[in-house]
Amino acid sequence: MSRHQKLGHISIQDVSKKYGSDYALKEVSLEIPAGSVTVILGPSGSGKTTLLRTLNHLERPDKGVIKIDDAFIGYRLKNNALYELKDKDVLLQRIHVGYVFQNFNLFPHLTVLQNIIEAPLAHKKMSKSEAIKKAKVLLESVGLLEKIDAWPQQLSGGQQQRVAIARALALDPKVILFDEPTSALDPELVGEVLSVIQKLAQLGKTMVVVTHEIGFAKEVADHVVFMDKGEIIESGTAEQVLNHPTHVRTQSFLSKVI
Ligand code: ADP
Ligand code: MG
Repeated sequence: MSRHQKLGHISIQDVSKKYGSDYALKEVSLEIPAGSVTVILGPSGSGKTTLLRTLNHLERPDKGVIKIDDAFIGYRLKNNALYELKDKDVLLQRIHVGYVFQNFNLFPHLTVLQNIIEAPLAHKKMSKSEAIKKAKVLLESVGLLEKIDAWPQQLSGGQQQRVAIARALALDPKVILFDEPTSALDPELVGEVLSVIQKLAQLGKTMVVVTHEIGFAKEVADHVVFMDKGEIIESGTAEQVLNHPTHVRTQSFLSKVI
């Protein structure tokens, strides 16, 4: 145990989700230790986004449960039964789970600063001056303090994604989810975003990163999970899964992306 008790242990227990008759997730179970970095790999359509979305109840599993620390995601336990949370309580739970999207999803009508302080003010988590102070610290940490008053469309894709990461951190989540954070970027902008994510990994937050950046995964991931057709095919340390994959589907996938 480190000096601080780490928060953000994710427990995914037998989660299934179907669209029509097709499984997007099939009996997925995974323990993600607090403070660890997990990279999820897999071909398009393998269920990676669906899995991330279940972690903050953007999707409701048909079966199975997800816990982050003591909280059931999307549910509360009462008299030994689970009851789905009301929308406002789902939103409160999401404070603990930051989400970084493939396409950045900054609010186009808000400046960089306004994008970052929007959630803290909406949740009445801090005063406006505290929120601004915190936003400046976050922008400094992603190297964009000088863009504080810029509009999203004035920024490169890499800069927009770094602002989106700062925004995701504004409520001090225990967990941050990244869904292919660099796949919408021009190749020369990928590095600046990966290095921000790599720096975050040292803060001890739990991070789940869907990415095809194998070099990044080798350097940063504690665990790597390979999915195909809604199932976890193989998981282990980065060294095991990336350098010594045992499953033929993992081997075939890696031979294509590396
Ligand atoms: P990945 O992120 O690995 O590319 P997804 O989680 O987006 O995969 O999708 C997994 C499967 O679920 C795919 O077959 C996809 O077409 C299907 N799917 C995802 N979202 C929906 C939806 N809202 N409605 C119907 N099918 C969906
Ligand atoms: Mg996806």
